[in-house]
Amino acid sequence: MPLDDILPLDAHALRADFPILQTRVRDETPLVYFDNAATTQRPRAVIDAITAAYERQYSNVHRGIHWLSELSTGLFEDARTAVQRFIRAERSCEIIFTPGTTASINLVARSWGDANLRASDEVLLTEMEHHSNLVPWHQLAQRTGCRLRFLPVTPNGLLDLTALDELLTERTRFVSVVAVSNVLGTINPIKTIIARAHQVGALVLVDAAQSVPHDATDVRDLDADFLAFSGHKMLGPSGVGVLYGREKLLDAMPPFLGGGSMIDRVTLDGFTSADLPEKFEAGTPPIVPAIAMAAAVHYLEAVGLAAVSAHERRLTEKMHAVLSRFDGVRILGPDPGLKGGIVSFVIDGFNAQDVAMMLDEQGVAVRLGHHCAMPLHAKLGVSASLRASFYLYNTLDEIDRFAEALQSALRMLKPKGGKRPASVPAVG
Ligand code: PLP
Repeated sequence: MPLDDILPLDAHALRADFPILQTRVRDETPLVYFDNAATTQRPRAVIDAITAAYERQYSNVHRGIHWLSELSTGLFEDARTAVQRFIRAERSCEIIFTPGTTASINLVARSWGDANLRASDEVLLTEMEHHSNLVPWHQLAQRTGCRLRFLPVTPNGLLDLTALDELLTERTRFVSVVAVSNVLGTINPIKTIIARAHQVGALVLVDAAQSVPHDATDVRDLDADFLAFSGHKMLGPSGVGVLYGREKLLDAMPPFLGGGSMIDRVTLDGFTSADLPEKFEAGTPPIVPAIAMAAAVHYLEAVGLAAVSAHERRLTEKMHAVLSRFDGVRILGPDPGLKGGIVSFVIDGFNAQDVAMMLDEQGVAVRLGHHCAMPLHAKLGVSASLRASFYLYNTLDEIDRFAEALQSALRMLKPKGGKRPASVPAVG
């Protein structure tokens, strides 16, 4: 089927819901926003939910007996239920509001990790993890002496599952793995990895920062023990994210942060913890961000995540096709059929920063650098890459604009070592 055929969702129509997409870069050039893996934009419905909460519904939650506190508590708990349904969790107490994916992973590493791991134990990660799913485990290893092991990435950007036989042993107590790589876009076979880990008795945390926003998630079908994601990567506000955990596991874990809300009783001699989910929500939680995150959930449900992922697949296919016309471009990661809407690449002979700046001058926002995955970039033998990442409001036309901008950037830039790639393609 030709790439320009009808899209499964009308991105042009959806764009009207996103005020920021009408922005002109430096007041001139229409914005092409291809930095969605870093953070997404907000539809009017989410902005309105924030405004309504602060204008009419705001008070601290769970604390007052007054009307306004009951109102905001009700909305906050409705948000929890919305997230519970969104990821098909069994109970709302399994949804812990945190500041984001990073905080969720740290919570598990600190609480479960410190309580359960010893020097003889192993934690299995992969070579394609975001620093958020590496550093907390390095810190845990420093505290407990446990050993970190890594599932390798193949040259074409997939996890090498054949290594599981050797890496998963009775010493493996915990596996933490990314569902969709924020660099390669690779969609990992999470369900298989979870089943294999469970066979040796290990628990599994899924870093779902790049998967929950883009495709349907069912934690019960996955059989995940923990799953972490962020509001700001799924049309919601920054400052809020989620840790899903199986009730039995969360119940058995000690609280991570101490303070108000997470206690049942405090004396000068000690404290007892509150029940779930408050046990893990010390202090004033992200009240309005959580309420607005629920608005984002409702928006995504109305559009339909199947349509979102199909749409992104088309954009990714077109991006691969466009980039393959440029000599010297190397796309990191697998073919479009195996990845989400993330396309990272390097261009032989050109400095990635120069290219990113030239794209920006033409209104195209892409990401530049190691994307918080230094070990993966080291493995791929590149110090920095350019990354275009899509969401439901991106269009095929924008990829044409990107191609024109890239073509003109490469024409104007001086290649490293003075050697220009053999050809810069005609675009159109
Ligand atoms: N994990 C992955 C795969 C990510 O892409 C990101 C953010 O880019 C994170 C974790 C961290 O998310 P946050 O910064 O919202 O905590």
